[in-house]
Parts: sequence; structure tokens; C-alpha cells
Amino acid sequence: MDNIITIKNLYFSYDNKVIFSDFSLDIEKGKFIHIVGPNGSGKSTLVKILIGLLKFSGNINIYRMNLCDDNILDIRKNIGVVFENPDDIFVSETVLDELVFPLENLRYSRKEMQKKIDKVLELIPISHLLNKNPHYLSGGERQLVSFACALILEPKILILDEAFTMVDGIEKQKLLKLLKKICNDKKTTIINITHDMEETVYGDKIVVINKGKLIFYDDKKEVYRNEKELKKIGLELPFMVDLSNRLSYYGLVDKVILDMNEMVRQLWK
Ligand code: ADP
Ligand code: MG
Repeated sequence: MDNIITIKNLYFSYDNKVIFSDFSLDIEKGKFIHIVGPNGSGKSTLVKILIGLLKFSGNINIYRMNLCDDNILDIRKNIGVVFENPDDIFVSETVLDELVFPLENLRYSRKEMQKKIDKVLELIPISHLLNKNPHYLSGGERQLVSFACALILEPKILILDEAFTMVDGIEKQKLLKLLKKICNDKKTTIINITHDMEETVYGDKIVVINKGKLIFYDDKKEVYRNEKELKKIGLELPFMVDLSNRLSYYGLVDKVILDMNEMVRQLWK
């Protein structure tokens, strides 16, 4: 198995508060992973550790490089991160400049820049926002712009930390489908962190953490089998999984069906 991130015996604490002790996790290259867990379980802390913002003990390898001060800039080149509140990252007066900024830093030519911007605008619906000041956008619009800024550099690893919390339902579903497509087409490793189990149906594997401990890490349908344990830590099964389970109780379906059209076909038989 080709792991793009390996975390071994991670220990981390804020002052006296231990968040991770002896935490280990391997993330496979090119997969769409969800990390779920209740508030305060350490998800955002883990992201900050992975991008070198927090000092830790233990061993972390990303893209076969050891995560330490010497390598952090090289590692960061491969990682795009989208946080829930993107305000802090905006440095420009317009959304267009915000997209141009990372490209300019890497000294792309005008022509290449335009190509990359056009490509990202095809994927993310923010064309109408290009001349606006990113600080004055709605929460959902800011999250879309922040996502576009991360995507434009085509990172090998894309980490989203509660990145779509302010995006409306249908739009959010489209973005999750887009993540799935990016993962399939470009073999980008995607880590979507959320406390909304509904989002996990779009991914491959699920990591469940609670209070800094790894509770489950498996293919999503395997994780969905643990309804009781998930409920205990406040995580609800996605709607389609719950529906499948109830229908299978009455013998109407014989497996978990995540796609609504397929569900209707099964029931119509
Ligand atoms: P999650 O993202 O899963 O909600 P966090 O990683 O943000 O959880 O937080 C894990 C725990 O660490 C929480 O109890 C939180 O209060 C605490 N914490 C987060 N940031 C800090 C900080 N800068 N200083 C002290 N404690 C913190
Ligand atoms: Mg968080």
C-alpha cells in the first residue's frame, strides 16, 4: 500500500491539556478520506500539526519526507488547506487578485495564470465574484473562494477542515461530488474533515476520532455498521444508510444503498 501520510506515536498537548498521546494513522495515496468526530476531538489540531503550525513529538512522514522544520516548506508545496473561517488568509482587495496571488508567487506566466484561473472557474461558481472584495462576501461565498485558492495550485494533498459549513445544501453536494471527481481524475489525496456524517457518503474511507483517539478507520460501509458506537459519540448515520438499514429489516433491500436512484430501482423491482 502506498501511504502519502504516516503518523506514528504522535503526542501533542496544549500547555497541560493532552490532545494526542500515542496516536498513529496512515493515509493512502489517492483516496478520498473523511475524518469525523465530535467537536473538540482534535481534528483541527491534527490539521495544524500536519502543516507544521504546531510542535509535536512522534514521527510524521508526508510524501516520504519527515515532517520537521527543514522540510516544512517542501511539504507545504504539496498540500492545499481550506479552513472553516477563511478570513485570515485573504490578502487582496479582489477575489481575482486572491486567485492570482499564489500563481504570481510561483512566477507563472500571464498565459499560464489565465489558463489556471479559467480552469478553476469552470469548477467552482465564483466568476460573478471576481471583482468583489473577498472580506465583504457572505460566509458561503468566502468558503468557495478559499476552496478555489487552494485548488488553483493543484496540490497533491487537499485538506478541508469544515470547509463547506456555510455553503447551502445543493451547492455543498456539488462540491463534494467535485472533490470525488478531483480524487478520481487527478489522484489527489483528499482529506475532508467534518462533523456531518452526511458528507462521508461521497468518500472512500472514514477515520473516526474522539478525544484524540482513533475509534474506527475503515471503508465507509464498514464504519456505517457501527451505528451504536457512532451514536454514543454523537455521530448519526447518513440518511441513505439509515434508510437502507430500516428497509433491510423488512427484507426490502439486502445491502446499504447510497444512491437514491438505485434505491428506487431496487424497491420498484
Ligand atoms: P476539533 O477540530 O475536533 O473540534 P480541536 O482540534 O479544535 O478540535 O480542539 C481539540 C481540543 O483542544 C479542544 O478541547 C480545544 O478546546 C483545545 N484547543 C484547541 N486549540 C487550542 C489552543 N490554541 N490552546 C488551548 N487549547 C486548545
Ligand atoms: Mg475543528
